[in-house]
Amino acid sequence: APLIIWFRRDLRLHDHPALQAAVAAGRPIVPLFILDPLAEDLGAAPKWRLGEGLAAFARSLEGLGSRLILRRGQALEVLRSVIAETGAEGVHWSRLYDPEARARDSAIKAALRAEGHVARSFPGHLLFEPWEVATKDGGPYRVYSPFWRAVQGRALAPSLPAVERLDTPSNWPRSESLADWQLGAAMNRGAQIVGKYAQVGEARALERLAQFLDERLDDYAQDRDFPAKPGTSGLSENLSLGEISPRTIWHAAWRRLHEGAPGAETFLKELVWREFAWHLYYHFPEMARANWRADWDAFAWRGDNADAEAWRRGMTGEPFVDAAMREMFTTGTMHNRARMIAASYLTKHLLTDWRVGLRWFEDCLIDWDPAANAMGWQWVAGSGPDAAPYFRIFNPAGQAEKYDPSGAYRSRFLAEGQRSPPEPARDFFAAVPRSWQITHDAAYPERLVALDQGRARALAAYQGLRG
Ligand code: FAD
Repeated sequence: APLIIWFRRDLRLHDHPALQAAVAAGRPIVPLFILDPLAEDLGAAPKWRLGEGLAAFARSLEGLGSRLILRRGQALEVLRSVIAETGAEGVHWSRLYDPEARARDSAIKAALRAEGHVARSFPGHLLFEPWEVATKDGGPYRVYSPFWRAVQGRALAPSLPAVERLDTPSNWPRSESLADWQLGAAMNRGAQIVGKYAQVGEARALERLAQFLDERLDDYAQDRDFPAKPGTSGLSENLSLGEISPRTIWHAAWRRLHEGAPGAETFLKELVWREFAWHLYYHFPEMARANWRADWDAFAWRGDNADAEAWRRGMTGEPFVDAAMREMFTTGTMHNRARMIAASYLTKHLLTDWRVGLRWFEDCLIDWDPAANAMGWQWVAGSGPDAAPYFRIFNPAGQAEKYDPSGAYRSRFLAEGQRSPPEPARDFFAAVPRSWQITHDAAYPERLVALDQGRARALAAYQGLRG
């Protein structure tokens, strides 16, 4: 009897334990993706990117003579009908660790098993299961450095090779059409523009890794903080949908570390930041919604407001911040240094609740990751575990001098004042919805707030919290 592989955030054929186990057992495989309420709920850009990822993955399955079955509905209902339609023995999937997926998956596992079906979950989305890394007292880590020390030397099984053969079931179940799902419908910002910058699919992800290791790893430690440089891997986009496994990245970087590559350790540490974010999110699932430190509930955050809207639109008058926000809107990603500056400006100079920013990132990022996004926002806001102290307020102008000394990043994304702006800067004006009434010939806006005033206001609010 066939086995169903229920794909979710693991759109790949290499290093896929759930798929590998089914293939090793000699089973015909029914690859399935379900557009269930959790997937329907994604922000505009991640949902669009999911559609691109599914199209690429379906093509690679077709290359093996298989297909990707697409169905919309409640996951349990869909799984039951696909089991009935194919005579499958049951289903395999790769585990997810966010609270919503965990609740869904454990209910499904219990229900299918009670009905006599196989329902098995496998690792693959992370390097280590969140419950396998524990402090001396057996509890979760709350601080990054000891977490890094705990995992850095751990043995990790080798990556599994790509599956090269998939036996097909004798009855293919019905499939819906990806085009009919309209996963890009909420992209009111010109999906074709973000599409120019996205790098979709497993093959592209593996090439990206190889290219990064060859060309950028040696200088990674120096270059990674400079947003105008192509210094980082860009792999977060692919990790988000599992087009590459973190274990594949880990082993490749370790090999380079042993060869003495400078930059390799710094890169591994960054990969472990992703791991740490998931460790935290697994153990403290409320962190995507609530201040990690409850005393921050008394902080005088502003809710959503007109300044925050200007921030979303890349129209604050603060060039580094606006370049960052426009980068995200047109390309679907934002450099890490820029994320920190943009988030700091919103939560400090504009005194706006970090959740307002978190929601906008959730709508705009094609590398959206609920754990890294929540950790990043709480870290910058000061409300998180292991957070930057609130009084250390980034000065976006000083940061621009330091990390974008030639202004190359700002001119890449800010067209105003340039006689012939580069393509990404022009793309922003093509991408913005008409309702924003932003045109390329308008003058660059005045600053919303003078930097010293914004800083003083933020510090006063912080004193209020302490007092
Ligand atoms: P590289 O420098 O090549 O690093 C390799 C990998 O390490 C990344 O792909 C990523 O998986 C991981 N990594 C690196 N830095 C971090 C970090 N600070 N936290 C967690 N993992 C990290 N990352 C996301 O993947 N999705 C998000 O939604 C997201 N939201 C963020 C929001 C804020 C406010 C901040 C400050 C950071 C956020 N990050 C998020 C983390 C980080 O900015 C991105 O992972 C990074 O910019 C991805 O680029 P890269 O793949 O070129 O990274």
